[in-house]
Amino acid sequence: MSVTARHRSVVSKSATRSRDKTKAGAHYLARRVVTFLRENEEGHYIRLQNLYGNKKLAEKYGLDPKLRYYGCLVWDPPRIVVDFRNPLATIVHEVLHALYPDATEKEILYKESLVMRHLTEYRAVQIWTLSGTLMRVSEER
Ligand SMILES: [Zn+2]
Repeated sequence: MSVTARHRSVVSKSATRSRDKTKAGAHYLARRVVTFLRENEEGHYIRLQNLYGNKKLAEKYGLDPKLRYYGCLVWDPPRIVVDFRNPLATIVHEVLHALYPDATEKEILYKESLVMRHLTEYRAVQIWTLSGTLMRVSEER
């Protein structure tokens, strides 16, 4: 084995190890999202709304109307508001906010992309199904 080849094989082994670590982290987070939705200890419900770029709704939820939002986490009453054009990643994002209330937006975005990059079909179906059971339609038309 040449030095180059040996070096390459060492690099690829450690790259695989760190990828596994990341993948394990992603699966751990996905499991936490599923558990949050299943146990729903705070009694959250999910609203699917036309939120992105909607200044009126942003104001209603205490968000900066100059910015655009795919989702937000509201505590009184506890609910997750999700733009229905981008729901799965947004639900994961908002649940991560609920699980990690002290994390910065940047940290949540990192966790979200980690979960979404490694999400299995099985976990995606669990998240969809559990989210569906928590969805409520507003009485206001
Ligand atoms: Zn966020």
